[in-house]
Amino acid sequence: ANGMDLLRDPRFNKGTAFTEEDRKHHYLEGLLPPIILSQEQQIERIVHNIRSKADPLQRYLDMMDLQDRNERLFFATLIEHVEELMPVVYTPTVGEACEKYGTVFRRSRGLFITIKDKGRVYEVLKNWPEYKVAVIVVTDGERILGLGDLGIQGMGIPVGKLALYTALGGIRPSQCLPITIDVGTDNEKLLNDPFYIGLKQKRVRGQEYDDLLDEFMHAVKRRYGEKVLVQFEDFANSNAFRLLEKYRTTHLTFNDDIQGTASVTLAGLMAALPLNGGSMADHRFLFQGAGEAGTGIADLIALSISKDGQKSVEEARKQIYLVDSKGLVTASRGIESLPEHKQKWAHEHPPVGSLIEAIHALKPTALIGVSAMRGAFDKDVLQAMAKYHPRPIIFALSNPTSKAECTAEEAYKETNGAAVFASGSPFGPVEVNGKPRLTGQGNNAYIFPGIGLGCIISGSVRIHDDFFLVAAEALASQVTDDDRAQGLVYPPFTRIRTISAVIATAVAERSYELGLASRLPKPANLLEYSKRCMYNPDYRKYY
Ligand code: NAP
Ligand code: MN
Repeated sequence: ANGMDLLRDPRFNKGTAFTEEDRKHHYLEGLLPPIILSQEQQIERIVHNIRSKADPLQRYLDMMDLQDRNERLFFATLIEHVEELMPVVYTPTVGEACEKYGTVFRRSRGLFITIKDKGRVYEVLKNWPEYKVAVIVVTDGERILGLGDLGIQGMGIPVGKLALYTALGGIRPSQCLPITIDVGTDNEKLLNDPFYIGLKQKRVRGQEYDDLLDEFMHAVKRRYGEKVLVQFEDFANSNAFRLLEKYRTTHLTFNDDIQGTASVTLAGLMAALPLNGGSMADHRFLFQGAGEAGTGIADLIALSISKDGQKSVEEARKQIYLVDSKGLVTASRGIESLPEHKQKWAHEHPPVGSLIEAIHALKPTALIGVSAMRGAFDKDVLQAMAKYHPRPIIFALSNPTSKAECTAEEAYKETNGAAVFASGSPFGPVEVNGKPRLTGQGNNAYIFPGIGLGCIISGSVRIHDDFFLVAAEALASQVTDDDRAQGLVYPPFTRIRTISAVIATAVAERSYELGLASRLPKPANLLEYSKRCMYNPDYRKYY
């Protein structure tokens, strides 16, 4: 090929790492400065430059520019510095990036499907140049992180998540497709923003919305086949539960906010068990937040408890309570008046108005925050938790950092270090009784790359709830006593590629057991096979 074409194509560009032979054989001589660097040296330079930027959004833009320029270097850098760079390409920084997506818009990435494309969705899909897509992450932008309706600017989320599918789970970049469905936005600020890049109209809802989504789901299967994974991301809960119910039996699909969150949270709870002794069934759980995350986690906990064989799922639910914006979810509120996802959590109990009252009434051993309400775990709440249990589990999972129910410092300080704490967004070390205490991040990124890889290596045609259960067990098994001693109920992200392979193996194994796997014969050693299938960003030779 022409040298300039290689330099301009991010899939092939190596920049200063083109070797002497590359340069000679591909007409690159003169088009590059004479220095020849290794990928290692390039990574060092990239990280050096990123660190020199004080503003997180600038770091994000630097990384996006790199992805547009040199894909392999982007992924190699992300993999090598995963703990430092994940917060740059994903939460919390991606939240700010979405808020300003139109203003900082540069090169387009991903596929935009709007309500105006109704009747032509398949044609629009065909414009995507790759025809071997394995994973789609799709959003309609209505509930971006804890930030609410960001309309089309939610595109940062599918783009970021798919970068993690590749970096953490080894899914090939060419097999990843980020999609945003633009049906308008109800965010007045964006509607009045001159730099907003979406349709300037109120959200379309009801039948018209459902028809577009239905057309989309069918077009996706027609174009990419039965085994394309469609991950729903950051839909408002009025649509999220409905769409999951509607498509889970006809498509290879899951909702990460409901099911991925459930899996990663369950893993953290399982990893915490050795600190207290006992099993999941010995805990009483209280949630602040009864939306996608809250009820999704609650469902999986109940399923997990029931697998011990001692209790049915229905019985297991009785040790799980949820608080929403109106107080404790109880039958006394009138079950029919509750949205469907809350109904099975409406236990017989006198009305309770607030979280703190609920803690005194129920004496939970585990408190999980998924309400996007900064400060909800205040001093009184934290101290009450410590009063009823020597090592209370306290997870403040709301994202981004500005929405966390409490900070790591607050959690440890107000409980005198007793809390077994995890958060949704990253927190640095906190000094507790003279020693540094770390905080595990209950980040869905531990789970979804492994789920995706597991589906791909087994050729799974559907996703079963058990996948999230075995993924949680696999993740929890990767937490060592040494991690726990430092305060971590999640393993360090530096081990994520191995962790993803272990999760993929567990998921694939279960897929074969359930008769959902289509890759036959089954690979003899799934762990080895999954590792072998993972994308490796090392440069290739071009001569
Ligand atoms: P959602 O479906 O909109 O649910 C939010 C829930 O919070 C609703 O049940 C809502 O009550 C409740 N809530 C709001 N204000 C409240 C208040 N003052 N007191 C008690 N509850 C209140 O959203 P979601 O998908 O569950 O996500 C919630 C948060 O979790 C977000 O910040 C998200 O970023 C975070 N999250 C974190 C992770 C992770 O760390 N791994 C994963 C997924 C989500 P009503 O039902 O009464 O409206
Ligand atoms: Mn999400």
